Amino acid sequence: MYQLTHALDKVRGIGDSWTTALAKKNINSILDFLLYLPIRYEDRSQIFSIAQLKRLHNSVLVDDVNPGLKNEPNHQQQTSKFAKKERNYQAKQEFFTLVIKVKDYRQYYKGRLLIARATLVDQSGELPAIWFNNKFLKNKINAQQQYYASGQWKNGSLLQANLEAITTDSPHTARLVPIYSQVTPFKQGSLRRLQKEIIDHLNPQEQLLAKQLTSSNSTSQVFSNVQEFFQALHFPQSSQDIIQAREQLALEEIIFLINKAKKLKKSWQENHTAPQIAINAQELIPSTLPFALTKAQQTAIKEISADLQKSTAMNRLLIGDVGSGKTAVAAIAAWHCCLAGHNAALIAPTQILAQQHLQSIKNLLPKQKVQLVTAQTSKNFKLDSATLYIGTHALINKLEIIKPALIIYDEQHRFGTKQRQSHQAHLLTMSATPIPRSLMLTIFAHLQSSILDEMPSNRVIAKSWVVPQVKEEAAIMWLAEQLLSSKDKQAFIVCPFIDPSQHAALENVAAVKNSLEQLEIILNKYYQQQGLAKNQHLKVAILHSRLKKQEQQAIIDRLYQKDIQILVSTPMIEVGIDLPNADLIVIQAAERFGLASLHQLRGRVGRAGQKSYCLLFSTQQTEPAPNNLLNRQESHKRLQIFAQEKDGFKLAQLDLQHRGAGDIFGSAQSGFNKLQFASWTNLKIIQEAKKISEEQLDYQSLLTAYFEKQDFLNTINNN
Ligand code: ADP
Ligand code: MG
Repeated sequence: MYQLTHALDKVRGIGDSWTTALAKKNINSILDFLLYLPIRYEDRSQIFSIAQLKRLHNSVLVDDVNPGLKNEPNHQQQTSKFAKKERNYQAKQEFFTLVIKVKDYRQYYKGRLLIARATLVDQSGELPAIWFNNKFLKNKINAQQQYYASGQWKNGSLLQANLEAITTDSPHTARLVPIYSQVTPFKQGSLRRLQKEIIDHLNPQEQLLAKQLTSSNSTSQVFSNVQEFFQALHFPQSSQDIIQAREQLALEEIIFLINKAKKLKKSWQENHTAPQIAINAQELIPSTLPFALTKAQQTAIKEISADLQKSTAMNRLLIGDVGSGKTAVAAIAAWHCCLAGHNAALIAPTQILAQQHLQSIKNLLPKQKVQLVTAQTSKNFKLDSATLYIGTHALINKLEIIKPALIIYDEQHRFGTKQRQSHQAHLLTMSATPIPRSLMLTIFAHLQSSILDEMPSNRVIAKSWVVPQVKEEAAIMWLAEQLLSSKDKQAFIVCPFIDPSQHAALENVAAVKNSLEQLEIILNKYYQQQGLAKNQHLKVAILHSRLKKQEQQAIIDRLYQKDIQILVSTPMIEVGIDLPNADLIVIQAAERFGLASLHQLRGRVGRAGQKSYCLLFSTQQTEPAPNNLLNRQESHKRLQIFAQEKDGFKLAQLDLQHRGAGDIFGSAQSGFNKLQFASWTNLKIIQEAKKISEEQLDYQSLLTAYFEKQDFLNTINNN
């Protein structure tokens, strides 16, 4: 029997190499491992024969092309029934699983694209298969071996089929199969086997989970024990299972946060003082600002400066949609502290962001002393006075020496964490997450809030288009033309989020490289058409988190110097590149992002108030979608809605309304949202959590140990 708190080496099948590999991902206990959740599920629950698959596509075709056929007396009822049933199935299902052998495997290059072809064989017939850029396939294929092949039907072939050898102990096929983010060097199958081993032998006596409200407003225990719960997360019977289990996780997380907030409020009230800052009401706003502040910004500054003048430490959240101008508000608060002779600190989640804050603050407050403190610059650190220190995690380590009167955190990675100050300071946290006021009071009972609900008047949301696949090449050429028309213009190309659980996943990096190759092919074609000489070509660079920090930095520098016109990047830019010149953004595989994330991404362009464009590409038709439970039409509709809607909060709510198993992954992908499982916009769950935390004062989720640890990680992992 395993307990959730057990160390992993207790598990049968886990040895040193496993514990080392898992420790790298900060997975140490059985609970940690069980919460290493699938990034998606593949539906291999229904096995098709080749003949069935062909018939399905032919009959659907006949039905669609000729609807009148159904009424003809000699139209076989059998076929019609089959077609209907199968079509319903297909509506939810893009992937088909076959049991086959592989023959006639061959591969070749077309340009830089590696193409592999083979014939799949079962007793009912043969089917061509095709793969792109799969370097590892060749070694894997054995003509004698039987495989489960899961792939997409495309013009009579099976596309990009995932092959899994059928062995005698292959317990996790012919069902919804969990797919995990890679734990190098281990295989998916081994991960699955270990999860199963643990779940099968989990002590069912473990404390139960919180009760969920049912629609009739009475509580019910959705999972009668933890075993059932983890079973639903890893080996669900249906997508309903996944939704229920994920909602349970979200509920537990919110309850944890509420309880934590209560504790924090108590300890805050007990012992937090900070320097009283003298502020001249006549000089609330510096005269150097290059623009007029919005009303919302002015109000926020008034609220903050009132707090700063008190001896009780401020603990305030500054919320505003992307581009609402939070930085200026924070900078002015810091400026007041520095005017009064104190230091201030602004802590950003990434080095890139810290750098950008430095740039924009120099612009807003040219006379203000500023100093950058990151892992790279900390050697040159100099203790000064009346200085605004801007940095990453490295700056947190210096707080004791700097003794700032005000600490500003950009983005919310501080939430819930233990106050680590031994000194006393005012705190301001900035967040772009749309949180309604009523929720604020519930979850962030320990915080005051200021809300920027108004955009600077010059700010226009990027005009957004969903680009049909046939027009993608033309769109890139249009983009090239735009960029060539003015030296000032810059564009981002954001690659698909292949592995949402990890920014730095190899798969994401591969996607960047792949996009770059495709882009270069189209650009070269364009240059040829236009007869452009080499020295007229656009400068293209890639950015992803696997690059060394110095390399990332070099690219950022070149971007600012306008030495790069196109940046191909993972969605890491979502967390905030503020390049005033960027005008264009292309988001590939846009259907994989939550709408709120897309909104964050498009907020990266047009920041100087210029006309800007956001092009949404969707690769669903040629590549396996990350989640085959989300259907294509739905996701297309979603993107269309996005293109028209400008309000970030409405988009976040739409994310929830269109909730299916597919969208559950939306929040994990968004990057700005540091909640692990819940979403700020899921009012129902938040209300439930509130009720539970009020009714059961001593409720302690059995996942608490995990949440505590994640919280901690959020503070240290972000530089
Ligand atoms: P966010 O709230 O997303 O952090 P920023 O603070 O980065 O937004 O501001 C976005 C852009 O808008 C910056 O280039 C900033 O200089 C500019 N900006 C901020 N406030 C105003 C304003 N009142 N009028 C015009 N531009 C503004
Ligand atoms: Mg910002």
